[in-house]
Amino acid sequence: MDGQEKSIIANDTIAAVSSGTMAAAIAVIRVSGPRAGEAVRALAGRLPEPRRALLARLRHPLSGERLDEGLVLWFPGPASATGEDMAEFQVHGGRAVVAAVLDALFSVPGIVAAERGDFSRRAWLNGKMDLTEAEGLADLIAAETEGQRRQALAHAFGHLGRQVDIWRGRLIRAMALVEAGIDFSDEDDVPAEARALARPEVEMLLAELEAALADRRGAMVREGATIAIAGRPNAGKSSLMNALALREVAIVSDEPGTTRDVLEVALDLGGYKATLIDTAGLREAEGKVEAEGIRRAQRRIGEADLVLWVHDFSGPEAPEIAVDSDAEFWLLANKADLAAVPTAALPALGLPRASRHFLVSAANGAGLDELTAALEQFVAARARGGEHPALIRARQREAVALANGHLRAALAAWDEISEELLAEELRLAGRALSSIAGRIGVEDLLDVVFREFCIGK
Ligand code: GDP
Repeated sequence: MDGQEKSIIANDTIAAVSSGTMAAAIAVIRVSGPRAGEAVRALAGRLPEPRRALLARLRHPLSGERLDEGLVLWFPGPASATGEDMAEFQVHGGRAVVAAVLDALFSVPGIVAAERGDFSRRAWLNGKMDLTEAEGLADLIAAETEGQRRQALAHAFGHLGRQVDIWRGRLIRAMALVEAGIDFSDEDDVPAEARALARPEVEMLLAELEAALADRRGAMVREGATIAIAGRPNAGKSSLMNALALREVAIVSDEPGTTRDVLEVALDLGGYKATLIDTAGLREAEGKVEAEGIRRAQRRIGEADLVLWVHDFSGPEAPEIAVDSDAEFWLLANKADLAAVPTAALPALGLPRASRHFLVSAANGAGLDELTAALEQFVAARARGGEHPALIRARQREAVALANGHLRAALAAWDEISEELLAEELRLAGRALSSIAGRIGVEDLLDVVFREFCIGK
């Protein structure tokens, strides 16, 4: 970033409520920037000792009217969350109190309302965190499951940033070798030797980056597994969806964007997020509308990690899976309350594509405990380990894919191209890796990253 952006930002002092929905017992109002100290003096009469709470009467600086009594904290920069002078007011969390304190703050010249993510953006600008840590913080605030919380925490404390540093270190070693070749190009054997030494470094790095891209566990923790419920009309899909959703009340929410044909609920399965989708009944399309519904259902099933194929076990038909997908299939023989065949008979139903069989009843809940436990195991097995540094965002994956492209190009032409061209490919790969942590080439990304934050963070 250039100095100009820095000075524009440092000129104003921002203020915003950082705590949650009002009315609440207490609201936290944060102020950051060169006039934070002045703001505290204007409202509280004096500055507290650094990092010590001061109980103070807060007054409006213009009218002198008493607003509230609360705790004031003073964090002089650079040892603060944003790296700037910061202050925090803990006041009573009523709407009118908060509005009055903010109004008083904005009456101090140079103090403006913070925008989304402004505090974190300043922390990043002042080197208090890298971009992966900022993203981790946004995820930590949004985390709904234990898995998401652990993952976000690892990212918020820089684990991915450190992994990226290790990758960059390897690349820098390779670049140094190749560049040594440039410097000693008049000596016959040095360039060739340096090149030969650099190659395994690049190969190893590429292999590691490919492995990191192939590892989907991190994304599984963040975004959750998708489990589709499919089957013929009236097999009991909706009933099962409701029965399962009711058991997992932790984060059951109606996600926006559900279509008439595909319904979704988010579940917390043993600490991991899963999205359960109920697809439209699959049968021969009778009308155009239904054909569209079936097409969408087919697509969602195709993308799912697991398909629960629901079969009406009390009916005369033999089960048969009528969709195409590489996903794992489990057979749920439903309406077990109406039929009297033991579970042991299920595999004999002849569904080679189903890797597991469950006899269930959406009506009386039979078999659902066993099914839920199996679903928890399924999700956990796929997500385990994914809390650790991983490429979880599209942005991070794209950067690594870009780096890999340059590394592959370098390796493909390793012995044919000049040291200069080789070094240039490696440099471009390094640039792509650096953008993950936000060290270079991220100006256009900043809005995308910080827009995700709420105001006051
Ligand atoms: P969908 O079309 O596959 O979504 O099926 P529904 O969930 O709408 O169920 C179709 C019918 O079967 C409804 O009348 C349900 O009450 C009934 N049903 C679903 N599950 C069971 C079950 O386990 N036992 C019994 N007896 N009826 C069920």
